[in-house]
Amino acid sequence: MENAILVLNAGSSSLKFSVFNLLSEGRLRQSITGQVEGIGTAPHLKVKDGNGQNFIDVHWQTTEVANHAQALQHITHFLHTKLQHRQLLGVGHRVVHGGPDYSAPLLITPAVMIKLDIITPLAPLHNPHNLAAIRAMMQESPVLPQVACFDTAFHRQQDTVAKLFGLPYEYYEHGVQRYGFHGLSYEYIASVLPAEISMGRVIVAHIGSGASLCAIHKGRSVATTMSFTALDGLLMGTRAGSLDPGVILYLLQQQGLSLKQLEDLLYKQSGLLGLSGISNDMRVLLDSDEPRARLAIDYFVYRVSREIGSLAAAMGGVDALVFTAGIGENSPQIRQLICEQATWLGVDFDAAANQAGAACISRADSRVTVWMLPTNEELMIARHTRTLLGL
Ligand code: ADP
Repeated sequence: MENAILVLNAGSSSLKFSVFNLLSEGRLRQSITGQVEGIGTAPHLKVKDGNGQNFIDVHWQTTEVANHAQALQHITHFLHTKLQHRQLLGVGHRVVHGGPDYSAPLLITPAVMIKLDIITPLAPLHNPHNLAAIRAMMQESPVLPQVACFDTAFHRQQDTVAKLFGLPYEYYEHGVQRYGFHGLSYEYIASVLPAEISMGRVIVAHIGSGASLCAIHKGRSVATTMSFTALDGLLMGTRAGSLDPGVILYLLQQQGLSLKQLEDLLYKQSGLLGLSGISNDMRVLLDSDEPRARLAIDYFVYRVSREIGSLAAAMGGVDALVFTAGIGENSPQIRQLICEQATWLGVDFDAAANQAGAACISRADSRVTVWMLPTNEELMIARHTRTLLGL
């Protein structure tokens, strides 16, 4: 019988899961990944084995999987029938927001759940789904230990000055701070940096449908582009990134947008989708001849390039640039466009290595080295869960 850890990552309409087998010497092997998508609309379970081969693909009626608890029941049923030779020893959950106090993963207890409920208004679009998955799991398997891993935790060690807004200080004390997200991804990347840059000043570009940059010095987060919410910073698939707050006032006061309309505009209708009017998917835009597709790509690259300069300033320089996540890992074209804008920083880009999908994509004598490193947030959660449970 092999021991295993289950990792759960609950989104608004999806529940992703991974099973990691516990091997000797602290190693973990991802043996299964899957997700229930379309919860409450067109539910659908897809599962792949450790080699990426599909081995299950099921569609249900809407009412059969109307919420996260039902999705979890299907997942645990699947795990019970398929994983009879493995024993689950713990569950690691992604929790997007840990508020001002949680700067490390922690074992979930009823007291922690009360605290997480208090934090929920800081991340109303994310944390309720994360907590729903935890509650459902507690009900399914009350004795199985569960661990919360926060996307904000990696950034909590930043200096106070990096976490401030220019609002009256009382707001900071009441939790209106720059938190930053994608922390599990950055922590994972920090753990796999090549030895020659691991103690240096590194800018990591986590660019997928959500996108942010993080300045990491000696393995610690120094500054990051997302802040109070995952709306700040770069242009994203459907999010606008940094805006003059005056735009919000104008939309509310002069254009009469309701709060719901404003939320939809900022989270779902802006970004690459809103600028191009075509798609939120970078692949579609790169394949398009439409001028507005090009405009959206140009603005995306421009924003990343400007923020690279800002983060270099926050660290007093930069030794390496790392690309990761959906766009960062899969688009040589976007990596090239960004690197061409970073020549002034000392980036000497190697176009052939980039096209070949090499890990190092700068020339041998480049002052700033450039890398493409795949992220693995699930593995980071499994590692934390294993450590915290002493497995
Ligand atoms: P998230 O985890 O934030 O949902 P991902 O990191 O999985 O997002 O990134 C998904 C995005 O990556 C897609 O929306 C798509 O725009 C982009 N992407 C994936 N493959 C490619 C590619 N080959 N070229 C350009 N963009 C890509």
